[in-house]
Amino acid sequence: MSQTRCIYCQSQNFVKNGNYRRVSDNRKFQRYRCSHCHKSFSEQAFKPDYRLRRRNLDLLIFRLLAGGMAQREIARTVGICRKSVACRVIRFGEYAKVKLKSYRDQMPKADLVLFDEMETFEHTKCKPLTMPIAVEEKTRKILSFSVGKIAAKGPLAKISRRKYGPRRCERKELLDKLIKELKTCCSQSPTIKTDLSHHYPSIIKSGWQGKAVHKTSKGRRGAVTGQGEMKKGGYDQLFFLNHTYAMIRDKIKCLSRKTWCTVKKIQKFECWVYIYVHFHNQRVEGRDRPTLIYPQLM
Ligand SMILES: [Zn+2]
Repeated sequence: MSQTRCIYCQSQNFVKNGNYRRVSDNRKFQRYRCSHCHKSFSEQAFKPDYRLRRRNLDLLIFRLLAGGMAQREIARTVGICRKSVACRVIRFGEYAKVKLKSYRDQMPKADLVLFDEMETFEHTKCKPLTMPIAVEEKTRKILSFSVGKIAAKGPLAKISRRKYGPRRCERKELLDKLIKELKTCCSQSPTIKTDLSHHYPSIIKSGWQGKAVHKTSKGRRGAVTGQGEMKKGGYDQLFFLNHTYAMIRDKIKCLSRKTWCTVKKIQKFECWVYIYVHFHNQRVEGRDRPTLIYPQLM
């Protein structure tokens, strides 16, 4: 068992205490009793599908979540309650986050990484969000991402302040987190490609103490295809990044443009993106039918 603490009191002293067979699939699981608080629990308590009843639907739900379907539509299609879908988004999103971190720790060090920010909004365009995403050019895998608030720009800025008050910009913290995560999986002096945004040169320079090579290219107008993320005309320096962005917009329902299915809570949305990232990284490996995360775990 990878987790070595009691789920109630976090004590490390617990002993084996029989086993049980799960009703839904007749599999056998070990039970434990804590020597400190005397409560008992099973090895299943550490798994993402703890106390879920319709485990046979999990893989289907996850393929649908990472295939551009809205949560309510999944609930209707599969024939379960919408809260059951929402609960799975959080549990498996958090799990996919752990998997992404372990991938970063194990992967061969990356030499060429592209990153940029994608923008969306929570509930209304007056409350915009930014999503810095980093992609390795060689493998096209997503290495890191995060979601946070930014202030509204242009004509909406005034309306936003009037209706919702001042909005804190979290861009700096998000970019710092991205660089910190990239440093764990990049070589000593990687090449980083970005657009011409003035936010990037200083953080790249300080992140790798000037050893990283920073290449920039001018952003171009979006084409209609690829959800506006693919660029018009000629060779695109950031093609692998923009193509990944187009895939993300297409495969996560609330990110597609001109949709009425919007982000409601940032934490839940982040979990959903982690689920997509898990599937995306399996897909670019050539696995057409991505597998669900937990069976090969623990
Ligand atoms: Zn205990």
